[in-house]
Amino acid sequence: MITIKSAREIETMAAAGRILADTLALIASRVEPGVSTEQLDDLAEEYIRSHPGARPSFKGLYDFPKSLCTSLNNEIVHGIPSAARILQDGDILSVDCGVCLEGLHADSATTVPVGEVTPEAERLLRVTRGALDAGISAAVLGNHVGDIGHAVQNTAESAGYSVVRDLVGHGIGTSFHEEPQIPNYGQPKRGPRLVAGMTLAIEPMVNAGGHEIKTLNDRWTIVTADGSISAHFEHTVVIDARGTRILTGALQEATEGVDGCWAESRPSNHA
Ligand code: MG
Ligand code: MG
Repeated sequence: MITIKSAREIETMAAAGRILADTLALIASRVEPGVSTEQLDDLAEEYIRSHPGARPSFKGLYDFPKSLCTSLNNEIVHGIPSAARILQDGDILSVDCGVCLEGLHADSATTVPVGEVTPEAERLLRVTRGALDAGISAAVLGNHVGDIGHAVQNTAESAGYSVVRDLVGHGIGTSFHEEPQIPNYGQPKRGPRLVAGMTLAIEPMVNAGGHEIKTLNDRWTIVTADGSISAHFEHTVVIDARGTRILTGALQEATEGVDGCWAESRPSNHA
């Protein structure tokens, strides 16, 4: 069932989204060679809990043990932060996070370079972020879920990349993963119609190689089957008659394009 949020619920989600945007900005500012992904996770959890009524959405969600998902290079999503996982110059790091405030969730992800990365990696980040921007631009009143996926897919595939098909974006609200599913592929005017008050996590996962995925033995980390690098950007948005509003980014993003942020899932096929 697709739930329509009240104005009060939307403002609470926007407040959660602001904490989340600040959390991801803080984490991105601390990303450098030599830092462990567990250090980043500790920082995120402490920062989120410093806000009264807020907690990390991921911790305990489907028994996930941490507050962030940290996914490096060929890892797409759901990497588990670890003291043994040390960032290296040239890595790309996807950071996915959720904040729950007064029972309502926001979800966002970004992928950031560690030190100096290859032009190929830079291009993947730029295109994936552009795919999120295109998906959000298509997420307007009267369009359909298929328009979002179509825009994301076009952006990624016209750059020579592939979109992950087995993981999807999702509705979000009092539950972290709600209907509808938001695939990163699709056809215009197909799928559920977008109506005012729908809150959606739009989250392109783009692989430099093929779209196939594998799950590692930790039963969480999802990687590209061919070992190619992958990027992930996500925002939570609300469909509104006055224009779609990004709840997990700076206010000017709605008109000036998307700033770095991101999605999540399991054991279902949400990202
Ligand atoms: Mg997420
Ligand atoms: Mg998500």
